[in-house]
Amino acid sequence: MKVGAPTETRPGETRVAATPETVKKLTAGGANQVLLQAGAGRRASFTDEAYAASGATLVEDATRVYGLAELILKVRAPQQSELALLRKGQILLGMLDPFDLDGLQKLAGTGTTAFALEAAPRITRAQSLDVLSSQANIAGYKAVIVAASHYGRFMSMLMTAAGTVKAARVVVLGAGVAGLQAIATARRLGAVVEASDVRPAAKEQIESLGARFIDVPFETEEEREIAQGTGGYARPMPAAWMARQAALVAERCKQADIVITTALIPGRPAPVLVSEATVASMKPGSVIVDMAVERGGNCPLSRPDQVIEAHGVKIAGYTNLPGQVPTDASALYARNLLDFLKLVIGKDGAPAIQREDEIVAACMVCDAHNVLRKK
Ligand code: NAD
Repeated sequence: MKVGAPTETRPGETRVAATPETVKKLTAGGANQVLLQAGAGRRASFTDEAYAASGATLVEDATRVYGLAELILKVRAPQQSELALLRKGQILLGMLDPFDLDGLQKLAGTGTTAFALEAAPRITRAQSLDVLSSQANIAGYKAVIVAASHYGRFMSMLMTAAGTVKAARVVVLGAGVAGLQAIATARRLGAVVEASDVRPAAKEQIESLGARFIDVPFETEEEREIAQGTGGYARPMPAAWMARQAALVAERCKQADIVITTALIPGRPAPVLVSEATVASMKPGSVIVDMAVERGGNCPLSRPDQVIEAHGVKIAGYTNLPGQVPTDASALYARNLLDFLKLVIGKDGAPAIQREDEIVAACMVCDAHNVLRKK
């Protein structure tokens, strides 16, 4: 099989879908050839020389990569210019926005057989190809580093001859993969951390990282049942619970120096957790990093890829935090793809899509000009 990895074209994207490590594994044994667009790894610090030494065939332009390859590895969904290069029967792997029906329809129009890895089920066997987790982990780490760089004080407590400096108080809203990594990173920097999540299972995880759980008690069985979520993901909570959470969050944010918000519900706008009134009540010089900004934001004031100041609070809303850690983000992502490839390429290098496999079935979003995912 000829596998192609073009340069990402989405503005600001720094990651690459194949690394010298994964190219070497793919080409070992000679069953597969990897066609890499020259310079594709440059922004992630992978040189063409390193790819060539790993067995990649360097190709000058994207047209040739798409033209020659039977399978294309991507980070983000193809842009308009790339759609024109895809063809019927070609296999495409990437983070293809499985909830973006318009985008999927355009993709289906090319006739490609496309797999959106974000749609993989959260089962043990899928953990090694779970792109959402590998990238959220990096984003959670980077969110804290970004917050620390905008914060005009120390994160840790310091006792110096000139006096004592207090540790920063950090509030993390949403304690999934990104939130837990944010908690761990903030703790490692010496901050005092508290965190909230709808899923009751998060309490133990938050506490095991040395943070305090912000408990929003359930008042009805229905609330408790919805909070369990589905398939590892949260569901929208009833308005009464959200109102109680908002009151508690507002109270905690007033005391906080840094607030990191990560709350998401698949296929829906992000829940609003930090209102403008809450921002206005925060201390001057506080920092909010809204990791949900691409999906509308957990704070209505955050703006995509901007750092704004409102009521004396800095609010950062980066849409691609993993892209700010491009080398490790690419390394982990490329390993996720390599793992998925075992389900679509046979040992002899021939296409062998295991259509009955539940991971393959969940991720296949386009085939033979049809969109296979409806919501
Ligand atoms: P996510 O990115 O979809 O959401 C982030 C977090 O926001 C979630 O924890 C969610 O519960 C929370 N949230 C939603 N609404 C909220 C609200 N109103 N207030 C506070 N928090 C809110 O989720 P994720 O991080 O990808 O994963 C969630 C869970 O799934 C985690 O516990 C993770 O460990 C688990 N997981 C399991 C597997 C597996 O078993 N294979 C793989 C990946 C993740």
